[in-house]
Amino acid sequence: MISTITKRVTGKNQIGNKLSAEGNVTHKTFNPKLNIENDSNFYEATIEEVNEAVELANEAFEEYKTFSGAKKAAFLNAIADEIMALGDDLIQTYCSESGLPEGRAIGERGRTIFQLQSFAKLVEEGSWIDATIDTAIPDRQPLPKADIRKINIPIGPVVVFAASNFPLAFSTAGGDTASALAAGCPVIVKSHSMHSGTGELVASAIIKAAEKTGMPNGVFSNITGSGRVVGIALVEHPNVKAVGFTGSIAGGRSLFNKAASRETPIPVFAEMGSINPVITLPEALKTRGEELAKTYASSITLGTGQFCTNPGLILGIESDDFSKFITNLSNEIVKIDPTCMLHPNIKESYDANKDNIISQDKTHTVANYANDTEANFAKQALAVVNGSDFIENPNLHQEVFGPFSLIVKCKDKKELEKVVSNLEGQLTGTILGNNSEINEYNYLLSLLSNKVGRIIFNGVPTGVEVCSSMVHGGPYPSSTDPRFTSVGTSSIKRWVRPFSYQNWPNELLPEELKNENSLGISRLVNNKITNEKI
Ligand code: NAP
Repeated sequence: MISTITKRVTGKNQIGNKLSAEGNVTHKTFNPKLNIENDSNFYEATIEEVNEAVELANEAFEEYKTFSGAKKAAFLNAIADEIMALGDDLIQTYCSESGLPEGRAIGERGRTIFQLQSFAKLVEEGSWIDATIDTAIPDRQPLPKADIRKINIPIGPVVVFAASNFPLAFSTAGGDTASALAAGCPVIVKSHSMHSGTGELVASAIIKAAEKTGMPNGVFSNITGSGRVVGIALVEHPNVKAVGFTGSIAGGRSLFNKAASRETPIPVFAEMGSINPVITLPEALKTRGEELAKTYASSITLGTGQFCTNPGLILGIESDDFSKFITNLSNEIVKIDPTCMLHPNIKESYDANKDNIISQDKTHTVANYANDTEANFAKQALAVVNGSDFIENPNLHQEVFGPFSLIVKCKDKKELEKVVSNLEGQLTGTILGNNSEINEYNYLLSLLSNKVGRIIFNGVPTGVEVCSSMVHGGPYPSSTDPRFTSVGTSSIKRWVRPFSYQNWPNELLPEELKNENSLGISRLVNNKITNEKI
């Protein structure tokens, strides 16, 4: 049997506007549903090709950074249109390289388009640039005050590592790329080798959009190859100014260390592992335990558990209601049909990590899907451990990427607080509680807020809305910098730096800082937010 991906895929690197295949190392992608390789060969980039992409990006930066919000918005909207124009070829290639169903592919494409369009709106409107103006006070005593005006300016060429678990929305034209291009930074993507064909198709759409909207050659490149070769070469290149990454803690940390040890260190915004603790409170379990068990069986298995916000840790205080909840959750989760993982390697890690937790002293398996499944389909499972045993064993705090949750039974509120205090940084924390009982747990909520980037009340952590108020990030190791988000329009802030003009003639200032405020953006003028002219 042969698994084919569209003939439009050439297997070549996109170095600026040209396709290139100078190397002789190739790889194929894998169809995990059919359990066979896809037919196309992908040429891994040589170091010369990597350098060429970065040089082009560096040259493109000088022109691209001067473009107006409207011009960048036209580019981002054109990328969205060109991705849609890829039609079924994109959807079929996505499914063949990920094992994910067509509905998910279409949904994720919609999210990708929405992200691009959201950034287009943001930069077209323009206030995101945070224009801040303090006008001069020439007669101030004892010294005159200068006229000082600040905006955010793009940081320079950005490298984006595509994520395995979102071949579209966190990959080639995903949130990192869209936000960096919106900020005025050229982007070089290190394609994910599990979905190189999907990446190439999307890269071709970006290049078409760049050509149609008059973008400089080098504003975008897409590089194929191993992380340890081309990934590191990109991060070490002196003309790369920042990195976006989604993936494992080991990968993100290693790139972060590389970037920090460069002669000129650069920021790495890595979004990595998270077990997303869910705290169940007694009243909620008493009144809604059965319904919560059903909801959580779905959330744990959604997308075969391959979400960074998957609920991997469920906490509660020992009681009959908590025991009933565990039984219900166990019964519900094994009723769900297993689904395919992204790649045999991810399935292998899932089995190994799940077995590692299940085999630890003092954990008890309460659910483990028992029927035979197709190759690369993940069997969902749940294990239980006591609070004190959890605290003592750091192995139990590690992410199991897949449909697995560890349930921690605490003997009382104090122990629950101690468990939360001992957690590492997380993307999310969830409280399942009734309004009437929440005040009793204020201290616990406060401890949880120290650990997470987003706190959810009576919901599930899976599902990350793309909007201005979203925080998808959190204390280390969920991300390398908890001051930023990688989802939503604020993620643009990762790719800019603040820049001040002192006593600069009005006519030479950027449009956003001129007295006239011709763009009508919101500005902080002498400590007042206004969109009036000065
Ligand atoms: P990964 O192994 O971290 O790889 C992500 C990207 O980084 C790939 O392009 C990889 O290159 C590169 N890379 C990894 N280690 C590197 C290193 N030491 N130096 C340079 N580049 C490096 O993640 P993955 O492939 O997506 O999945 C593997 C595991 O990561 C999963 O089983 C899961 O545990 C975790 N994961 C977590 C999340 C999350 O959001 N929390 C998301 C996805 C995956 P190559 O092409 O050479 O592999």
